[in-house]
Amino acid sequence: MKYIDEFRDGEVARGIARRIGEEAQPGRTYNLMEFCGGHTHAISRYGIKDLLPANVNMIHGPGCPVCVLPIGRIDNAIQLASDNKAIVCTYADTMRVPASGGLSLMKAKARGADIRMIYSAVDALRIAQENPAREVVFFAIGFETTTPPTAIVIRQAKALGLKNFTVFCNHVLTPSAITHILESPEVRELGTVPLDGFIGPAHVSTVIGSQPYEYFAEEYQRPVVIAGFEPLDVMQAILMLVRQLNDGRAEVENEFTRAVTREGNEKAKSLVAEVFELRKSFEWRGLGEVPYSALRIKDAYADFDAERRFGITYRSVADNKACECGAILRGVKKPTDCKVFGTVCTPENPIGSCMVSSEGACAAHYTYGRFKDVKIKAAESPPAGVARSAAIPTEVR
Ligand code: SF4
Repeated sequence: MKYIDEFRDGEVARGIARRIGEEAQPGRTYNLMEFCGGHTHAISRYGIKDLLPANVNMIHGPGCPVCVLPIGRIDNAIQLASDNKAIVCTYADTMRVPASGGLSLMKAKARGADIRMIYSAVDALRIAQENPAREVVFFAIGFETTTPPTAIVIRQAKALGLKNFTVFCNHVLTPSAITHILESPEVRELGTVPLDGFIGPAHVSTVIGSQPYEYFAEEYQRPVVIAGFEPLDVMQAILMLVRQLNDGRAEVENEFTRAVTREGNEKAKSLVAEVFELRKSFEWRGLGEVPYSALRIKDAYADFDAERRFGITYRSVADNKACECGAILRGVKKPTDCKVFGTVCTPENPIGSCMVSSEGACAAHYTYGRFKDVKIKAAESPPAGVARSAAIPTEVR
């Protein structure tokens, strides 16, 4: 398939890996954070770490939408769906994120709450039209990629004069999270998270463009390379970061030129600006309260704001004590540092949010990282519970 196959060529991957090995200077360490869960998934799935020299370290960032959603917000959504108050609609992965009291949206649904999995924001609007006697709430989550569709359905609901449709807005912003990480004590004072550069998100950057990252490069002297989600994109971005660091440069470079421009998608940005405004603060799982890091619905669209219609109040809830998701999302720990990784906590029974989505660091490690030999040994017998297509990426061997 065009734009897929040519970016999964194993021979080319090995060639880039050789260049990285030749150009990464011995005696120097390159600590690179992939902000986005899509890159975490690609790095695990295609065994990219195995192709890198020992002095190039990849650090997971907090860019997985369901991973950063705090428990309190899921509790809010469950409360909305309880007691027949509203039909709550949301995207698939959100359904399984652990909430308080051993619940999740999925488990609440099993107990009778009317919670529906949808594929797009428009599905929620349709459900509202089909159920005029019921309140319908779209539990909207995600980074800048999923924000424009939410803006569109709010505008559509207003145009249609829908009285039973609202959005519980939990959209968050990438640049604020990167700033928060760069300002964290672990990076600035303690040095426990050495960060030399970033692989910038792919899909988010198609919307916001590469321009917002210029601040990090200039202010914090950290290079950023925006990369696509295919394995060769990631390999090429790593090579570009190694070169910048060798040259003492801290610039924003764009590897994903087939989809990302400096300005981004102006139409999507203006839609978002019309419907949403910045929140003063928002709690992220792992990062805590992050100033100006999320969006709320503007007064002009207040009739479609579930927080106002239902008087939702937020209560912060601590994560399960055994779960290290917070430290993993800050780049301080790895999934294998968690005592319950792969034993008590699995994708079938996630204890923390990082084990839920394929973009979560724990789920990516569980699905691909535990069976390092599998992709080398090839096809006969994937381990129990691991689909052959998932365990053995045929494109990069
Ligand atoms: S393995 Fe499970 S419990 Fe441990 S950090 Fe990951 S999601 Fe949390």
